[in-house]
Amino acid sequence: MGSVEEGSRARLSFSSTVVEALRPALSAAADLLLPVACVVCDRLMPPEESGIVCGHCWSRVRELPHPRCQRCGHPIGKHSCRWCAAVPPFVRAARSYCWMGTGTGEEIVYALKYEGWRRVAEAVALRMARVSWLADVEEERTAVIPVPLSRSRLRERGFNQSLLLAAALAPLWNIPVWEDFLVRAVGARSQTELTPGERLSNVAGAFAVPRSVVNSLRGAHVVIVDDVVTTGATLRACSSALFAAGARTISYMTFGRAPSSGDRLIP
Ligand SMILES: [Zn+2]
Ligand SMILES: [Zn+2]
Repeated sequence: MGSVEEGSRARLSFSSTVVEALRPALSAAADLLLPVACVVCDRLMPPEESGIVCGHCWSRVRELPHPRCQRCGHPIGKHSCRWCAAVPPFVRAARSYCWMGTGTGEEIVYALKYEGWRRVAEAVALRMARVSWLADVEEERTAVIPVPLSRSRLRERGFNQSLLLAAALAPLWNIPVWEDFLVRAVGARSQTELTPGERLSNVAGAFAVPRSVVNSLRGAHVVIVDDVVTTGATLRACSSALFAAGARTISYMTFGRAPSSGDRLIP
C-alpha cells in the first residue's frame, strides 16, 4: 500500500512541477484567447492594438510642452526656470515625459505601480526613450540606476516599478542597469505617509551606496530612473548618495512630473 501512496505522491509532485513550468505559456495562451481590457479606461482593446493601454488613452497623455529648460527639462515661459533651483549642482540634466495630474499619465503610472501590470513598463519606457537630451549626456551616460523600494514595499507589491522601467529603458539607450548601486537605508519611512516638509528630512540619508560597487561608480555619469518626480526630494537624496560615493555626474529621468504652481499644462 505504502508504495502505491508514494507513487501517487510522486505523480502529484511531478504534475504540479509541470503546471509550474507551463504557467508562463498558459497565461500567454490565455492572453491570446481572451479579449484584453485597457487598464486605464476598461474598454476592450481593439484587436489591432497590442499592449494593455489603448491608443485612445495613450493619446490623452500630456507631454511636457515646449519650450523646455535645457538643463532640467521643465517647461519655461517668459521667466527663467523655476525648477532648476530644486536640482543639485552636480546633476547635469533632468527629463520627464509627461505631466501628472492632467491627462492619462497618472492613471498609467497607477496601473504600473499598484496593479502589477508588468507589461506597461515596456510601453512607458518606449515613450521615455523619445525624450531628447543634451548631446553630452547622450554621449557619456554610463548606466541607469533605479530608485530602490523599501523592503516592506517590495514584499507588499512584489516588484519595484522603477526597476521595471530602468530595465526596459536601458536597452533602448544601449547602456546597462546598475540594480544594486543604490539601496534603502533601514528604517526609512514611505514618502506617501509624509507631508512635503517632512519628506525632505526623511529622505536625506534614506539611501546608501554599497561599498562593493564604489569602484565601478567612480567617475561615472549615471541616470537615476523613477516613475514620477513630485518635489524632487527622493531624486535629490538618491543623487546626493551617489555623488558622495564617487559618481562624477548624475542625471534624472522620470515618466511623469508633477506640475508646480503656475505651470502651463497645455502647449
Ligand atoms: Zn483606454
Ligand atoms: Zn531648469
